[in-house]
Amino acid sequence: MRVTKIELKNFRNYSYLVQEFYPGAQILYGNNAQGKTNILESIYLCTCARSHRTGKDIELVQQGKDDYDVKISFVTDKSIEEEIRIHYLATVSGDPLRTKPIRHIYHNGVRLERVGDMMGLFNAVIFAPEDLQLIKDGPSARRRFVDLLISQLYPPYFRDLLQYQHLLTQRNNLLKKLRDDFSTGNNTSDYDLNLAVWDEQIADCSSRIISLRYETVSEIDILANEAISQITGLKEELRIRYKTVGSITRNSTVGEVQQIMKMRLWEQAADDILRGYTCIGPHRDDLVFSLNGNEVRPFASQGQQRSVVLSLKLAELLLLRRRTGESPVLLLDDVMSELDGSRRYRLLQTIDKHQSFITSTELSQVLHGQDTKTSSLADIVDDYSIFEVDNATVTKILSHSQ
Ligand code: ATP
Ligand code: MG
Repeated sequence: MRVTKIELKNFRNYSYLVQEFYPGAQILYGNNAQGKTNILESIYLCTCARSHRTGKDIELVQQGKDDYDVKISFVTDKSIEEEIRIHYLATVSGDPLRTKPIRHIYHNGVRLERVGDMMGLFNAVIFAPEDLQLIKDGPSARRRFVDLLISQLYPPYFRDLLQYQHLLTQRNNLLKKLRDDFSTGNNTSDYDLNLAVWDEQIADCSSRIISLRYETVSEIDILANEAISQITGLKEELRIRYKTVGSITRNSTVGEVQQIMKMRLWEQAADDILRGYTCIGPHRDDLVFSLNGNEVRPFASQGQQRSVVLSLKLAELLLLRRRTGESPVLLLDDVMSELDGSRRYRLLQTIDKHQSFITSTELSQVLHGQDTKTSSLADIVDDYSIFEVDNATVTKILSHSQ
């Protein structure tokens, strides 16, 4: 698929912007703080209604305004024209109709009931400096990566995730109640029965989540390993392993995962009551990256960490394409300046079949690379367009197609 037009209202530093885009590489260049990343952010927002930079919608609203409106028009590889629009209205003090933030999502003009309904409609993969958090930060960033990917591939998964969150909150509330009742000596037999009811449902929901995570991570593992040797040109062995509840393995069936989860929750119940929360389950899962047998986080160099994340994102791109039959849009924020000539060349070759949005402060860096030995962009990609971004104004400089 490819983006044909974006329309922004009160989004970040854009009061109003309507801009058309074209097939191939869309190069956005300009000085710092002009609004390049904001454009990529608005496009990414339309995949899952969450920015890659923040979970807080209010930060996206232009300062001094109380709503933002983002609309992207895109055309699928089957030549179907579609539209996603997100309209967010912040709270307004003194307005009885605006006591809570409101977010409306539209697909082709029709309002969607739930965020989950937008999953898989428009797919984009972003690679931005923030992505190094996937390695550096705690497990929740890695879970979010895998959860959003699976939701795009298989939208009902998103419902299971929400259901799991709901069940977990109920179980945790009950655990706290049981803990309080133990300390005051109240009769708890009814609550024990209730705990068994929650455990049953949590085990059922978890089994679907864990099985899909195993399946997806093992596909990502293979594709990312291929991608890293493609970009670096070296034989580096990248492994991505999914870490979940003990005793569950890659070969466990959905039914087995359910049984193990139920048993583990039951075994864990006394400890959980003392703590007042649930200590095992998909909400504690993680991904472990290793390069040539060593775990990436403590051992890999900065450049290697970047290559790992880039490979992970390329694997995401390939998996989305393979499973949906559509080429996702690729958003590359400040990536070119961080890659050396040969890596940049291989990256551009890999993404040639996709529409990509590439930001840079130096146009020459994208067009020619830092050194004269490397090929220019025109040698690698057939179609490209160049836009200058200057203080929230976008100007098309050139559109080239072969
Ligand atoms: P760089 O090259 O440094 O990455 P950039 O062109 O990618 O720069 P953006 O991150 O797209 O820059 O835009 C940053 C600009 O947007 C800054 O001037 C910032 O103050 C402004 N900005 C961010 N959020 C808001 C907001 N909610 N309201 C108004 N302006 C905002
Ligand atoms: Mg930027």
